[in-house]
Amino acid sequence: MLTVSHDSVVVELNLLAGRVVCPDCGGRLRPWGWARDRVIREGLGTDWVDRRLRPRRSRCTVCLSTHVLLEVRLAMRRADAAEVIAAAVEAKTALGWGHRKIAAGCGRPVSTVRGWLRALAASAGAIGERFTSLLVRDAPDAVVLWPKPAGTAGGEALSVLMAYAEGLGRRFAAAVTVTWIQAGIATTNGRLFCSSWWAAGPNTNRPLRPGVVGGKVGRSACHIPVVGVFTV
Ligand SMILES: [Zn+2]
Repeated sequence: MLTVSHDSVVVELNLLAGRVVCPDCGGRLRPWGWARDRVIREGLGTDWVDRRLRPRRSRCTVCLSTHVLLEVRLAMRRADAAEVIAAAVEAKTALGWGHRKIAAGCGRPVSTVRGWLRALAASAGAIGERFTSLLVRDAPDAVVLWPKPAGTAGGEALSVLMAYAEGLGRRFAAAVTVTWIQAGIATTNGRLFCSSWWAAGPNTNRPLRPGVVGGKVGRSACHIPVVGVFTV
C-alpha cells in the first residue's frame, strides 16, 4: 500500500511520468491495473454517505512488487474516511468526550468509535515517539512549534502530529497547508490507526512527498472542524 494524492488525475500523470517511487526499493512505479472496489463512509452525523472507490494498482520497474495506491483520505482497514476518525480522535483528546458521545456525534456505531480510540490509545506512545523524531529530521527549524505536554499519551501524540504537519506546511512553502491527519496517513501509508502495525515497529523513515498533501485544505487539524461540528 502506498498513500498518494486524492486527485486521481495527478496520480495518473505521476505514474505515467515515473514520478511515484517504490516504498521498498526506491524504483519507479508504473500503472498495473486496478485493485478491488472499496466503499468508505464519509461525513458526520446524519450526513454521511457511502463512496465507492477503485484504487489504482502499480508495479515497480525494479523489484517488480505491486502496490495499491490509496488516496490520502483513506485509513487502511477502516471503513470510514480518515477525516471522520480524526474528528473522533480530536473530540476525545481536545474535548475529553467519551466514545458514546462521540459515536452519537459521528453517526457511527459505538463499537466502531471505541475501536478507533482504543487503537490510538494503544499506539499513542509509538506515534508520539516516531513523529517527534520525524519533526526533528524534517522540520528542525520548527522549534517554536514544539508541542507542550498534553497530559495524556493520546494528547501528546496528537500534539506532535499537529506540530509535524505545521512544520511540513512551512517547509513546502505557503502553497499548501498540511493537516495532522494528512501528515499521519501519508507518512504511514494509511496505517496511522493500525495498532498492530505500530506494535510491530514500523519503518516510516521516508520523507513525506509534497504531491501527497498538495492543495489548500484549511488550517483545522482535519478537514472537518470538529469543535464546530460537535457542539460542546
Ligand atoms: Zn521496488
